[in-house]
Amino acid sequence: MNSELWESNEEIEYFREYLRIPSVHPNPNYAPCLEFLRRQATQLELPIAVYYPLDAANPVAVISWQGLEPQLPALLLNSHMDVVPVFKDSWTHEPFAAEMDAEGRIFARGTQDMKSVGMQYLAAIRALKRSGARFKRTIHMSFVADEEMGGRRGMRPFVETDEFHALNVGFGLDEGLASPTADFPVFYAERSVWRLTFKISGTAGHGSLLLPNTAGEKFQYILDKMMQLRKQQVACLENNPELKIGDVTTINLTRIGGGVQSNVVPPELTAGFDCRLALDVNHDEFITQLNTWMSEAGGGIELEFDQKHPYVPPTATDASNPFWLAFKSATDELGLDIRPQIFTGGTDSRFLRKSGIPALGFSPMNNTPVLLHDHDEWIGADTYLKGVQIYQKIISNLANVK
Ligand SMILES: [Zn+2]
Repeated sequence: MNSELWESNEEIEYFREYLRIPSVHPNPNYAPCLEFLRRQATQLELPIAVYYPLDAANPVAVISWQGLEPQLPALLLNSHMDVVPVFKDSWTHEPFAAEMDAEGRIFARGTQDMKSVGMQYLAAIRALKRSGARFKRTIHMSFVADEEMGGRRGMRPFVETDEFHALNVGFGLDEGLASPTADFPVFYAERSVWRLTFKISGTAGHGSLLLPNTAGEKFQYILDKMMQLRKQQVACLENNPELKIGDVTTINLTRIGGGVQSNVVPPELTAGFDCRLALDVNHDEFITQLNTWMSEAGGGIELEFDQKHPYVPPTATDASNPFWLAFKSATDELGLDIRPQIFTGGTDSRFLRKSGIPALGFSPMNNTPVLLHDHDEWIGADTYLKGVQIYQKIISNLANVK
């Protein structure tokens, strides 16, 4: 296909129209997204419902296609409407113009994360409907707010609502990542994010003395222990080529604070860490370890959490999960090389999994550099349209699971 054919392709047109809506943080206005989605629903002759799980500024739109056996648990195709901010000076294309170059690369914020996926669901459903297909299970396409801020105004409260329970969701698809190679990652789990701060108090006094139990000494002890743990994880990763970053615990010192002036020993220092606990880490044991270090350091240390995600079991990728088998048979039939793995960051999938709904993260963009949250984010028109075909097969299989 050449760029003229891409220009006039119906699905590419819808996609670019959606990309031109600047639903960008810090204050995304979702009203134009809703207006666009309402038109899509009308065009598809499918009902759309809009929910407000937290407040009027953060809607969730759900377009539904009822199955032939609507009592069966439904399929949820989730995407988020919001995108992260842009630093315009770093872009060579206007970030909300959705320009396409001669090779068919479409440039815009959200081309990868994840307006592509939301529009590919719609495109796949449009093609399936036009072909006359019908499926056993109901298919819901959800378009949520606030994913990029952690889902506190979107998916997190939504899964708790009666409206969500009424959707009777049995399985979810959500975002994955682009792949610079020919294979496709598929994500079945996420690590637990713990963002924590040690508030370390100690003997304060004059800088000319050698006072016992100073905050600085305790700080050093804690820092050493955390960095040793970090080194162990680096070694794990280096010594086993099978492991990916999502398989190990990551620990990073992200903030330090404290001090009064340079000749005063301060009463308190703080050390903040971003920790992502691997799936095999026992949370109780981890916290016990931190508490042990805090007392070994001399006590007088408090631990505060900005985030402390609970353990969420992974989605099964074996014969115990009929949705996995349906997904796998679709991708096998299409000859796709898929690589099941644990997601490095966090997505809305975790809220589904936490409420007991199996979910996979999958964005069909291979041979594409990973540009999420980066400048000049793009996707190729051919990759986008291939993804629509991939979804047709996957959705057909998933929606016909007995
Ligand atoms: Zn995303």
